[in-house]
Amino acid sequence: LSQNSERVLAVVIDAAEPKLVRQMIEHNELPVLKALLAEGNWIKVAAPANIGSGAIWPTFITGTDPSVHGIHGEWQWQPADMSLNRYKGRDLTPFWQTLAAQGTTIGIFDLPFMPMIGLEHGFEISEWAPHDVIEGQIQVGPERIKTIVSKSPPHALSSDRLKTEGPDDLEGLQKLSSACLEGIKLRGNLAQELLRETHPRLAIISFTEIHRTGHFIWHTVEPEHEVYDRDEFACLPAVGPTMKDLLREVDRQIGRLIEDCEQDTTVLVFSLHGMRPAHRAPTFLGPLLMEMGFARLADWSGQSWMERAVTLMAAVKRRSPSVLKRIYYKNLPAKTTQRLARPTMLPAYDWKRTRAFSLPTDQHGWIRINLCGREAKGIVALAEYDALCRQLESKLKSLTNHQGEPLVGEVIRTSGSAEDALGSRLPDLVVHWTNAVFESPLMIKGSSVDTTPVGTYTGQHKGDGFCILRGGPESGVSEVLLAKDFGDLISRSLSSKA
Ligand SMILES: [Zn+2]
Repeated sequence: LSQNSERVLAVVIDAAEPKLVRQMIEHNELPVLKALLAEGNWIKVAAPANIGSGAIWPTFITGTDPSVHGIHGEWQWQPADMSLNRYKGRDLTPFWQTLAAQGTTIGIFDLPFMPMIGLEHGFEISEWAPHDVIEGQIQVGPERIKTIVSKSPPHALSSDRLKTEGPDDLEGLQKLSSACLEGIKLRGNLAQELLRETHPRLAIISFTEIHRTGHFIWHTVEPEHEVYDRDEFACLPAVGPTMKDLLREVDRQIGRLIEDCEQDTTVLVFSLHGMRPAHRAPTFLGPLLMEMGFARLADWSGQSWMERAVTLMAAVKRRSPSVLKRIYYKNLPAKTTQRLARPTMLPAYDWKRTRAFSLPTDQHGWIRINLCGREAKGIVALAEYDALCRQLESKLKSLTNHQGEPLVGEVIRTSGSAEDALGSRLPDLVVHWTNAVFESPLMIKGSSVDTTPVGTYTGQHKGDGFCILRGGPESGVSEVLLAKDFGDLISRSLSSKA
């Protein structure tokens, strides 16, 4: 065991918007964070949210960029068999594995996308009450921790997906935010017990409730925003508890955890990405790429029997009334829904005539090039990669609605060159939409694709996060902290006064 006794408590307020947190601190609404900030620093956090929210936790966990770990969302494209696979997170090597091997006791509680590494001391608890469902089941280790965890009352996010019908479903939203408020207290209680029981030198405690509610009640945080300037939002009664009530409760719970710590414990309270207004998610990119001639669906006769079955099922699901869909998703365990949903998430493409296609997403548009030497059925030669990407970029950037407002802000390329792309598991292009895509109905100029959006989100992720850091290494802390550098910062904090 190492000689020094430096300790680190890292608390995640997942997807907490930095602006809102900062404003509440300034208005004395978060006394614990305010006191922490008075003794520490506010650091801007940059994470690869511009690729997708699914990329940020693997980046934090592994200390590597998305181009290295390859994770961008819940569904990962498999170029070897031209299909999608549910992301399981088992292959990530977390930065705390080295620390544990050196004898540091570690406690990790409900960190999104966390792999289980078989800790012998401390605790590792995955998907206790997650926002991001990965395995669809709780995992707890080591064995002796199970009793503590099983004694904790159930958290609503652990079993019920708490589906709401959208911004006008007051009852559903109230139920969601009340359950999350209650959940924050339960989480605080369990975290406190785990810390007292195991006294780890490094603890990472994650609050997931702010993430979940942020997606559904963000319209109550910025009601004046242009995205909400439409009838559906016209006469909304206030949802309570509010986002601020929830953040105040998180602040209280963090206060309890800090109180238990020794005075010189390094404390980090952070989020890796924030939240901004949105309204549902656009789904027209796939059909649009077909309309533009970049992708083509397989003819019935060209499909295998398996592909025909999949096409049929997709058609049935598309045509079933929303009430049936709701029942379909609500009454099945998350795991089953994922298994059933998978084959229908990608239409049956004619790969011989598909150069670029879209991947399922709930935020940015994701485009994958059907590249020779990478995709099993690739048709785009390496030499054509760059020109094809440029062609797609210019077509997308010229997209407007009927009023001439652009629909696309930025188009990001994830590989610097065709050669780099050969080893990439990410979408080749990431399309950032403007707020004009949230209009409904949306008419795309010069296109006849169906633009009906999906989902009930009124909040989506924004690039930056924040970190309040008290203590830590004496040097080498920059003004902007990258998500991939947290592991290094934490490791240096643990050994700073060795
Ligand atoms: Zn999210």
